[in-house]
Formats: sequence, structure tokens, C-alpha cells
Amino acid sequence: MGQKLAYQRVFSEGLPENGGKLQGSVEFNSALSRYTYYQIGGPAAVIATPKSLEDLRWISEKIAELKMPFFTLGWGSNILFPDDGFHGVVIRMKFLGTQITVAEDGVLELGGSVGGSSLLRKASSEGWSGLAHLTGIPGSVGGMVAMNAGTHLGEFKDCALKVETVRIGEGKFNLAVRSLKPEDFSYRRSHFLNPHDLITRAWVKYTPTDPQTVKAQIDELYQRRKSTQPVDIPSCGSVFMNPRDQKSAEGMHAWQVIDKLGLRGHRIGNAQISEKHSNFIVNLGGAQAHDVRALITLAKTRAKDELGIYLHEEVKIL
Ligand SMILES: Cc1cc2nc3c(=O)[nH]c(=O)nc-3n(C[C@H](O)[C@H](O)[C@H](O)COP(=O)(O)OP(=O)(O)OC[C@H]3O[C@@H](n4cnc5c(N)ncnc54)[C@H](O)[C@@H]3O)c2cc1C
Repeated sequence: MGQKLAYQRVFSEGLPENGGKLQGSVEFNSALSRYTYYQIGGPAAVIATPKSLEDLRWISEKIAELKMPFFTLGWGSNILFPDDGFHGVVIRMKFLGTQITVAEDGVLELGGSVGGSSLLRKASSEGWSGLAHLTGIPGSVGGMVAMNAGTHLGEFKDCALKVETVRIGEGKFNLAVRSLKPEDFSYRRSHFLNPHDLITRAWVKYTPTDPQTVKAQIDELYQRRKSTQPVDIPSCGSVFMNPRDQKSAEGMHAWQVIDKLGLRGHRIGNAQISEKHSNFIVNLGGAQAHDVRALITLAKTRAKDELGIYLHEEVKIL
């Protein structure tokens, strides 16, 4: 409790009403469920939402000063926070870097908080081809880089050129830009990020094309998604990575493994393995993190014991 109050006192000093210069916001003991697609998660001691690099620098200094644990949250579309929350600072990347600009012919510069849907909308209207493989991924650019997000058409790494990061909670506040290579990524993973690195910008390649062609492709992919995924119920998308490289899985997708176990529609509390797509666990309303985790454990245990298949989570569980 004493520690929580110390965090609050120090972070309150950043607010304009207390003479501070923060442009973004700071919240204390706010429920993380407000900021996750799952609508699950207890309170965080501090949720800091920077709007500028100056804000981020200040937040980083306070984290270093107080030696606080921190977590970088993007749009919260692939995260399961615990029911008892997080006893540190959550840096919420929602408003820092929201611009999409053409840096040069064939290269886009994207702020770390740009949403996948805005990017794809702009690609449709401007005729930027080469990004359709990201259609329907609801997270931020930072989250897409960190997760190497992708679909059956490709992964973020296929269009990634460069990334800008900053190391949080250390004495210095230096932005570093690095070129990206395919080996910096693997299936739903990036390997180049230090756990303290926060992504502030990324550069991707595209090919200028006729907007109508790009729009038609993206619209069709959105429609396909709507018909195969429970997009209108809170979830984190696919819970498990596909185990296709495992011999025992015989090329199966994770949803096929779960179907084979007869778990489609299985419910614990208010969390349910979706009837529509069995690699999704949906929150039917008021589900707790422990309900979702219990379903995850059930599927993993049965897949291993009954089929000799190891399922690994794609969702990040704190
Ligand atoms: C309905 C639905 C459908 C989905 N479909 C897909 C899909 O087809 N393909 C796919 O790959 N994913 C899919 N997802 C999962 C999710 O959208 C992606 O993983 C996305 O890239 C996560 O981005 P985010 O900003 O929401 O990250 P968060 O969920 O907020 O965080 C995910 C991870 O990224 C890290 N992170 C986020 N931002 C930053 C940053 N700026 N700097 C450093 N690290 C950061 C976090 O620390 C965390 O480890 C889906 C999710 C939903 C809800």
C-alpha cells in the first residue's frame, strides 16, 4: 500500500494541475479490463498514456527513479492481464505516434500507436498494395512488430523495413533506429527487442497500385474474417499458435486440434471456446482471467496427453 501511494505521489507531480508538463494522462488503480479487447484484467497501480516523446521520457525517468516494474501495452488485443491486476506502471501506447506518412516512394512511416484498421483503410483509399496480409489484425503498429502479427497471407516481417525503439527505465533516453531482417522474426515472435524496448515508429514498404484493386482485396478479406471469426464478442483472436511443425500434429491448425478434442463450445465460468472458431476463447460477459487460463490449461493438457501435441499460447499472459 505504501509503495502504491509513493507511485501515485510521484506520478501525480507530472499532471498540469500539479505544475507538471504531461500532455497525456495518468490513472491510478484503474481496471485494465477497460483497455483490453478481452475486457479482462484487474487494476494497475499506474496507467500512463503518453502523448509525446517528452511524456515518455518523463515516465521513463520516474520508472527508473522508483525502480518500478512496467509493461508496454499497445491496443490490448493480444493480452490477458490477471484478475488482481499489475503492481507497476502500464505504459499505454494509444496516442503516441498516430501518423501515417509517405516517407519516400514505396516507404511508409508509421507511428507506434497507429491502428491496423487505420493503416488498411488508408491503404485502400491510397492504393498501397503489399499490406493486405495485415487485414483484420486489430492491434497497433508497435504490437504488430512485437508479435510479428500475420495471417495466412503473410506476416508483418514481409513488409517491415526499419523500427525505432527507446529503452525504458534506464538512465538515458535514446531513440535507436535499426533495419529489420527476416531473421529478426519468427512465427508470432520478434527476436530483436530487449524486454525494456518500446517501439515508437516503424517503416514498411508498399507498392503504389490502383486504389480500387487494393480496396476490393481488403474488403473481401474483411468479409471472410467476419464470416469465420467471432469478431463481435470480446477475445484476443487466436489463443494458440498453430503446431504445424510438430510431427504429431500432422499439419493440423490449432483449431483442428481443439476440435479433435471435442472442446468447441466448452465453457468455464463466462469464458468459452468459441462455437464459431475453436482457436478463439471468448468473454461471454464478466469472464475472469482465471476462467480463460483454466480453458487454456485444459486444452494444452488434453492435447499433450491424448494427441501428443504441444500447444503454445499466442496470447501474451501476464
Ligand atoms: C478479433 C481479433 C483478431 C485477431 N487476429 C489476428 C490475426 O489474424 N493475426 C495476428 O497475428 N494477430 C491477431 N490478433 C491478435 C492481435 O491483434 C495482434 O497480436 C496485434 O499485433 C497485437 O497488437 P496490440 O497493439 O493490441 O498489442 P497488445 O495486445 O497491447 O500487446 C501484445 C504484445 O506486444 C507488445 N507491445 C505492444 N505495443 C508495443 C510497443 N509499442 N512497443 C513494444 N512492445 C509492444 C506488448 O508488450 C505485448 O507483449 C487478433 C486479435 C483479435 C482481438
